Amino acid sequence: MNEQEIVGWLRETDETRLEELWKRADNTRKKNVGDAVHLRGLIEISNHCTRSCGYCGLRAQNTKIERYRMEPDEILECANKAKEFGYGTVVMQSGEDLAIASGWVAALIRRIKEETGLAVTLSLGEREEQELTRWKNAGADRYLLRFETSNRALFDKIHPPLGEKPCDRIALLKQLKHLGFETGSGALIGIPGQSYEDLARDIMLFAELGLDMIGCGPYIPHPETPLASEMETALAGGDETQVPNTELMAYKVIALARLVCPRANIPSTTAIATLNPARGREFGLERGANVVMPNLTPVKYRALYEIYPGKACITETADACAACLRGRIESIGRQVGTGRGDSMNYLLRS
Ligand code: SAH
Repeated sequence: MNEQEIVGWLRETDETRLEELWKRADNTRKKNVGDAVHLRGLIEISNHCTRSCGYCGLRAQNTKIERYRMEPDEILECANKAKEFGYGTVVMQSGEDLAIASGWVAALIRRIKEETGLAVTLSLGEREEQELTRWKNAGADRYLLRFETSNRALFDKIHPPLGEKPCDRIALLKQLKHLGFETGSGALIGIPGQSYEDLARDIMLFAELGLDMIGCGPYIPHPETPLASEMETALAGGDETQVPNTELMAYKVIALARLVCPRANIPSTTAIATLNPARGREFGLERGANVVMPNLTPVKYRALYEIYPGKACITETADACAACLRGRIESIGRQVGTGRGDSMNYLLRS
């Protein structure tokens, strides 16, 4: 698909045509990655952050949130729960917390691998090559780092570099792949200033990078961030080029990502479930997605990992999330995946 065709779909409003898009994405999903829905247990290990991202509630300047960092024993307890629930993978995510030292993470990865044997995914932001190598050697399998937007000027605006060091997530993704990680990325949908062409190029970049995992969600304004007020202006202005941060746009992106990257693992994300708690997860799974990421973070920390407000499943315990998601998956005639659920792209590459 070229840029123009993708823009055509992103702007499509005809329901019959959209049904066709959903059907094509769902068939492509079924043919390439099957009916299994892989569960990845998410552990939000720290909400400390040194960065100043315009979209994210964890940004350093937000003095209104209480900060936490989980202890290794607490994290291990979550990983053991993941195993008990039959998840194949744990994902450790955090703000860009430089107090999380590379040796600390390496030791943690070793313990999780030894005690549970689960696949380990990291999503700790931009780190040095040396640290990434160390984590790979300790047994980490995958790394998630969204490029957020392929529009360089917009990216620089919403994701300012830290000090003098230039910030290039696309280069970092290539490096991660080279180091042998299963590599995941994704984009925010409907950031103020994002055009349809920008979003189409994001989708083309998924294919160009040969991603193993693609996670996308609607941008949800957080009141304690500078971008939130711009969203109001962007929507009020009636700007025809502005991508809306809607649920429908998120499904279009999932479906198109599936069409351009047929074998990738694609989650039906929490941000979508936040916009539609009743059916969002299911719609995502029926329009191209094959992964869900149940939250394992202890309830006492969960509300503090507030990247955006009103996040779905914020008060549920890990047990409740596990049962709820299993039910949702079975309700649409799909099965919970067994095993690690590695990306087909990755398996073919190695
Ligand atoms: N510090 C890590 C993890 C960040 S949280 C990193 O930067 O990679 C994971 C993802 O949440 C981000 O990549 C971003 O795409 C998404 N996110 C952050 N703020 C958001 C918001 N306000 N609305 C929707 N998604 C958001």
